[in-house]
Amino acid sequence: MKNKLKVRLLIPGFLFLILSVCSYKKPQIQFYGQTMGTTYSIKIAGVSLTENERSRLYEELDSLIQGVNERMSTYLDSSELSLVNADHTTDPIPLSPELYRVIKRGQEVSGMTGGAFDITVQPLVRLWGFGNTGRRWTPPNDYEIKALLDEVGYKNLTLTGNALVKKNPNAEIDLSAIAKGYAVDSAAEFLIAEGYENFMVEIGGEVSCGGVNAQGDPWQIGIQYPDDAVEDAMKLIGKVSLREKAMATSGNYRNYFDYNGERFSHTIDPKTGYPVTNKVVSSTVIARNCMDADAYATSLMVLGPEAGLKWINSLDGTECFMVEMDIGGNLTQMMSSGFQRYFTKNEN
Ligand code: ADP
Ligand code: MG
Repeated sequence: MKNKLKVRLLIPGFLFLILSVCSYKKPQIQFYGQTMGTTYSIKIAGVSLTENERSRLYEELDSLIQGVNERMSTYLDSSELSLVNADHTTDPIPLSPELYRVIKRGQEVSGMTGGAFDITVQPLVRLWGFGNTGRRWTPPNDYEIKALLDEVGYKNLTLTGNALVKKNPNAEIDLSAIAKGYAVDSAAEFLIAEGYENFMVEIGGEVSCGGVNAQGDPWQIGIQYPDDAVEDAMKLIGKVSLREKAMATSGNYRNYFDYNGERFSHTIDPKTGYPVTNKVVSSTVIARNCMDADAYATSLMVLGPEAGLKWINSLDGTECFMVEMDIGGNLTQMMSSGFQRYFTKNEN
């Protein structure tokens, strides 16, 4: 009898606990996958779906993201972009609306950055061992680099109607610095069209956030400590609070090789043909859409802090955070005029 009473008394308390947890944290759906040589994650807050609805949504999102990769990858010989690259003529090459849109934005960012951002770096990216023909661990020689400079340059491409024309028939395109952002935007646009307001879409660290998270707060996104040491992989410099904004980070601390005491990273200065030599190790951009954030973050790696901050400060609704590292490993953090209001520094 005593035991029974205890059980009866316990039940209401237990229910209350569950209800109170529910009122703080709304349900959340999460999807994970792989694409573009990296991982993606999608969170949708405040909705519950049946198992069928859930798997249908996952299939649609996954095929949308894989579809962007199948169009824009330089690693798939059958992608639309690989076919464009294999066309060594000056004839107009008709493009799908998606590829047209990304190439067009890439060309606009080249114009804005005086050619620091340049999707025609593909032959150089390959030569330096950061592209689809595999890695190398020693720098190429000057002659090899100079020989490619004629093929590189965004002015070698023009867009007419729905087609691309190469002025130099050997020009080839690399969308690695912009396509992830575009894929994030496409997934976010799809979710909005399906009526979801509260979501976070992330591919390889490039994110777009809509509405609020499951706690009802703006989405919190960490900025990683720019160091490739394994123990630092989860270490954060700080976190950014995002609402109806996208954010992308470019870094020189993951994709590089060291040779004779010099570091050669995957961000190429299109004018010299060499990897950038400034001290910037990472740059993060907050923008209205992720395609811009992605391309701008890469641009900042080339422009460096002085020209980079000046440029970002001149843009509406766009902020940036840059980190430099000196030879001793000391970090200097710099931010655009409005970045601070999104940012909480990690004090550890
Ligand atoms: P991640 O791939 O790590 O997200 P980025 O967005 O900065 O980094 O993209 C870097 C890639 O962009 C390089 O691996 C290369 O394929 C390409 N790239 C290198 N230099 C440039 C450049 N100046 N402009 C445009 N794309 C570049
Ligand atoms: Mg980028």
